[in-house]
Parts: sequence; C-alpha cells; structure tokens
Amino acid sequence: MNCYECAQSGHASEAVAVCRLCGAAVCIDHVRTETVQLREAAHPGKVIHDLPARQLTCPVCRTAEQSL
Ligand SMILES: [Zn+2]
Ligand SMILES: [Zn+2]
Repeated sequence: MNCYECAQSGHASEAVAVCRLCGAAVCIDHVRTETVQLREAAHPGKVIHDLPARQLTCPVCRTAEQSL
C-alpha cells in the first residue's frame, strides 16, 4: 500500500501506518505519532496503572484534532 498523502501530491511512497481516524495509509514522513495515557477503570483493591498507548494519525486528522 502507498501513502495517501504522497499519492495526492503525485508520487509514491510505501506506507508504514494507517490513520486511526480516516483509515488513510501514510508513510514515515506523514505519520503523526502520539502517546496517550489510558486510565483503567478503578477496581476495588487493585492498583491503578497508567498505560501508555500509541495513536497513529495522518497529518489531516492530526490538524483537525488540534483545532478542536
Ligand atoms: Zn507520505
Ligand atoms: Zn486521517
């Protein structure tokens, strides 16, 4: 699969990730990586862990999220 962003500008680059929001394939130059902390629901008597999760998005969706 080729990068959607690169394809739109007329060249082909191999995609390394898929945007979690729009499903577009993006290359290493276009992928936006974000690490977020997902908080588990608290269980009685259980220690709460903060788990880092990775979110991959394309530039378009990243910009759209930041403008919210
Ligand atoms: Zn690209
Ligand atoms: Zn996207």
